[in-house]
Amino acid sequence: MTPAQTALLQALSPVLGDKGIVTDPALIAPWEIDWRRRFSGRAPAILAPADTAQVQAVLRAAAEHRVPLVPQGGNSSMVGGATPPADGSALILSTRRMNRIRRVDAGAGMVVAEAGVILADLHAAAEADGARFPLTLGAKGNATVGGLVSTNAGGTQVLRFGTMRGLTLGVEAVLPDGTLYDGLSALKKDNRGYDLGQLLIGAEGTLGIVTAAALRLAPGIARGATAWVGLADPAAGLTLLRRLQAASDMIESFEIMPAESLAAAVAHLPGARSPLAGAHPWHVLIEAVTGDAQADPAAMLEAQLARALEDGLAGDAVIAASEAQAEAFWLLRHSLSDAERALGPAVQHDIAVPVDAMPRFMVEAAAACDARFPGTHASGFGHLGDGNIHFHVRAAPGTDRDRFYAEDAAVITRFVHDLVTAAGGTISAEHGIGQMKRDELARLSPERVAAIRAIKAALDPHGLFNPGKLVACA
Ligand code: FAD
Repeated sequence: MTPAQTALLQALSPVLGDKGIVTDPALIAPWEIDWRRRFSGRAPAILAPADTAQVQAVLRAAAEHRVPLVPQGGNSSMVGGATPPADGSALILSTRRMNRIRRVDAGAGMVVAEAGVILADLHAAAEADGARFPLTLGAKGNATVGGLVSTNAGGTQVLRFGTMRGLTLGVEAVLPDGTLYDGLSALKKDNRGYDLGQLLIGAEGTLGIVTAAALRLAPGIARGATAWVGLADPAAGLTLLRRLQAASDMIESFEIMPAESLAAAVAHLPGARSPLAGAHPWHVLIEAVTGDAQADPAAMLEAQLARALEDGLAGDAVIAASEAQAEAFWLLRHSLSDAERALGPAVQHDIAVPVDAMPRFMVEAAAACDARFPGTHASGFGHLGDGNIHFHVRAAPGTDRDRFYAEDAAVITRFVHDLVTAAGGTISAEHGIGQMKRDELARLSPERVAAIRAIKAALDPHGLFNPGKLVACA
């Protein structure tokens, strides 16, 4: 521990108490490594404030002692965004004790939740009030409100409800100098100059700590239907999606995966099986939902899928016959990342291209990667309707894990990102930049990088917030 860190802990001890300061290395260890086990670091302590006032006290003291902090929620970042630096120079600031739902108002369509509230708990709180929070993702049991806001997370309902930016009505945050930004008023219109809340959405912990957020709720579900469809290729998937969207405004999710990803999920989950009997090169999972008890999403899906089967657009299709079956379908989808992780080292690319270009990109980019890096294997799955897939390149069997991440990964990533850039896309659709893609941020125009640096320097002049992530401090 550095002398500055020791002084900081002494100053904070009366404020945070025993529960708020963790120095036992065994308790810290799980939070020093990322979900994918690709990045690891060292933090001499975790600071865990219980409320916004305590966050203010921590940030004031950290500024005074010039101690860098790594904001952390559920530690489910896919880009090493919440992992501390290796040299032990930073402490983790965990929001997990700040887990109160301050207010749920289904009538007003909003919930105010503290940063450490876990997504699954937010879902439960909204449902208990007859509403729902319409964003979900595979890490819903870990990801927190603060992390979701700070990464502008997406997930499987973006098609209908947008990302966190669209779902966030207001943000409460503590800025690096310890001042409180109270943007929770949730006004529908407010044009009083710069919107700091919008800046904090997607800031990846580099501009301060999000302490709470006012979030939009959707009406509860009156009726829903879940379908699984087998297809020849991603182009057929996009045609099907367009048809469904033209026929109905109930389409909420449309997730695509190749047969090999489905097979990996089936093998990974005890007792799981493919929803369709036959073999199909590609699969899509479709969710249609309505708050209108008179509407019939199952009938709509049935009619559209019958047409798709008749004219050869789809190879086979099934509509879940029960809630349990629908849940089993979703479990397969949400296990794809876990299943893929279990297959061994792989480089992940969370990329987007224009939606119409995605079917071609999925097929051609995978073929180009396989040809360029013999022995590796590339494939993508995810949010076809958003033009966003998770494009993974798995190491050749027997490759040394450390060498793969230390040497091969950067070369592969540059190749994939070149393809994405040529297709007019983005190298980060939803996971953020973190430390994994920091060097690739140089693909932005120099003017845009300079603007990011200027904002960072203005709000965090000592470079104390999430060092080494998003953008290198000048
Ligand atoms: P952490 O991982 O703890 O932190 C993420 C970033 O936010 C870090 O930069 C951290 O410093 C910062 N941060 C955290 N809390 C705060 C705070 N209170 N104030 C300021 N900064 C903060 N993401 C998607 O968008 N879509 C998906 O479909 C998706 N699927 C996933 C599936 C799996 C299996 C996993 C493991 C992850 C997935 N993710 C997905 C990524 C991840 O879940 C999201 O990025 C999530 O938003 C991170 O939340 P967290 O609380 O775990 O944040």
